[in-house]
Amino acid sequence: MEVLKFGGTSLANATAISRVLDIVDAARGRGKVVLVCSAVSGCTDALIAMAALPPSEREKAGKALLDRHNCIVGRLFTGKERKDVCQVVLDTYRDLMEADPEDYQSFGELFSTRIIAAKLRCDGINALWLDSRDLIRIDGGAVDRQNSYKRIAKAVADHPEVEVFVVPGFIGSDSGGRVRTLGRGGSDQTASLFAAALRADDLQIWTDVPGIMTTNPKDVRSARTIPQISYDAAFMLAANGAKVLYAPAVEPAREAGLNIRILDTFHPGLPGTVVGPFPRRERGNWVGIAWKEYPDDSKLCLVADGPVDPSAVPELRSRLERANIIARSIETEGDDHIMVSLEHGDELEALRTCHYICFETDDSVDVYLAGEGKVGRALLDIIGRTDNRINVRLVARHEAEDEAFFREMFATASGKSVFVDCTDSETIYKWYVPVLEAGINVVSSNRRALSVPYAEFARMKRTARRMRRFLRYETTVGAALPILDSINMSANSADEILSIEAVVSCTLNYILTSGLPFAEALMKAQEIGLTEKDPSMDLGGKDAVRKLLILAREAGIPLEESDVVIEPVDGSQVQPGQRFVASIEKDSSAPKGYRAAIRLRAVSPDDPAWNVRGTDNMISIRSAFHPSPLIIQGAGEGARMAASSVLNDILR
Ligand code: ADP
Ligand code: ASP
Ligand code: MG
Repeated sequence: MEVLKFGGTSLANATAISRVLDIVDAARGRGKVVLVCSAVSGCTDALIAMAALPPSEREKAGKALLDRHNCIVGRLFTGKERKDVCQVVLDTYRDLMEADPEDYQSFGELFSTRIIAAKLRCDGINALWLDSRDLIRIDGGAVDRQNSYKRIAKAVADHPEVEVFVVPGFIGSDSGGRVRTLGRGGSDQTASLFAAALRADDLQIWTDVPGIMTTNPKDVRSARTIPQISYDAAFMLAANGAKVLYAPAVEPAREAGLNIRILDTFHPGLPGTVVGPFPRRERGNWVGIAWKEYPDDSKLCLVADGPVDPSAVPELRSRLERANIIARSIETEGDDHIMVSLEHGDELEALRTCHYICFETDDSVDVYLAGEGKVGRALLDIIGRTDNRINVRLVARHEAEDEAFFREMFATASGKSVFVDCTDSETIYKWYVPVLEAGINVVSSNRRALSVPYAEFARMKRTARRMRRFLRYETTVGAALPILDSINMSANSADEILSIEAVVSCTLNYILTSGLPFAEALMKAQEIGLTEKDPSMDLGGKDAVRKLLILAREAGIPLEESDVVIEPVDGSQVQPGQRFVASIEKDSSAPKGYRAAIRLRAVSPDDPAWNVRGTDNMISIRSAFHPSPLIIQGAGEGARMAASSVLNDILR
């Protein structure tokens, strides 16, 4: 059982709701789902405002909300279903207009969840709408947890056939049957209560940011996602103004021993934040900064994951003074957080200064990732698990050429930032030069981007040099094998490359060494995902040419595709003992001083290519200084390996 909660920003319109349904669909593949939803964005505010209007003006405000929901229904449904769901919305609207204005604010979640439950059912999913007002008991402003847990557990146990329970967040009722709310932002708490009551396997809070960040990214653009945070620190940030998580949502999860995962609806591949039982450190590091406005002042709260060094207070004071900000007071509270009281109006300047002091002087790297295919996903996974130095800022999924992605990167990146291209786009390379010119490093696993016409390639290299930024693409040939680096070493040391021979097509290598008949082996290679999307790319040597161009250019040879003699593989002529070899050989009579070819070649047992099996790659480099060749051989395929090579390019 997984509990997924989506906030209002994730439900702003029909497009956003469709995105939510995709995420729910993926969760459904793993088991039962409880789907907790907020009101669509802005709806609760509108309802509260409506209650404050003179009675004669309420109908107009109510109609506007009715229209907004009908518009969503119009986009999500057609035909008879559209009519039925419009009726449900109309009934909810009528209940609203008859309700006590004090209760208006409870209607946003009723609208949104009734529409979503209907949509799931319309898609053939066994979904059931549960009325949280009957399940969550709120007396004297506090949740009666034991009572609520019993009701929730029963409601779910009564319907073993249901796949997705759809639950309005935010609302409950008191023992007199009067509707009550959990307070603004309370849907997070609804989710936490359901997860605890049902001993869920996972509690996910989906929102419009990549997780709990070092501060609100709307206030400080360079805010970073916090990969892991303790319940205490998350509570402290939430209680002091970080509304990404509603503070009262922490306790039910902590008591039930559940982690809370904060995830980004708009970038579902990002690792997000895990709130869990992470121990305090002996000496605290800064975790995040929140702020909140009070009638008399604004208070920043700097939160650490252990005791704060006593020198932090005077240092903070003097740094703020240097920025012309006079704090009213700076005090350590408990031993793991500092409260800074400020005049109204000073808070943003102070926040930026404090954020800089706490988070922007370390050795971490911001990564902007394009492409969430196999390699991109593996990279996110590795980063999420292992490296706190890397902060993934933005991910473009398919829209590799998405202007907005690049514009936002230009606006937020620093000189240490890295743009990572894990797409297989033919055209994204056009961004490399502007990215480098913006002072951002580039790491690429996209071989199409590096095998563009030589003039374009040379321009990228020149720009990187001029801007003193790196452009690394080791992954494009032989995944994690250190091939390009080795060639580079020869080229940089005034050595002269005499020849390069490479067995770099995993597909063909697999086919040629599988021992199976050609057609059968090809099918198998396709099955296990070795081939390019279009296998003729492999057989025609197209993919091998790209690798060869990259190899040659790394050796300083300005090779173009038209310089390479390619003999495509004809399945009927394949002989045992052959390998598909890409080669460059020095030849002073050739136009560029080298001959390049890609062809099937018979190899003998003493040839280094003989031993290359399956998805291994092999490259042999002969140079003037090293007449006996340098041979690099090893696994040349696999998303995880490619991702680890990308990571190495980012960090080395
Ligand atoms: P939802 O509608 O999903 O419940 P909220 O608006 O309640 O979303 O919370 C998400 C917002 O919280 C973000 O858009 C962001 O502006 C704000 N926020 C404040 N502090 C932080 C923080 N430390 N990390 C991330 N987001 C924060
Ligand atoms: N809809 C409610 C609010 O806007 C509850 C929530 O979104 O969590 O506060
Ligand atoms: Mg919220």
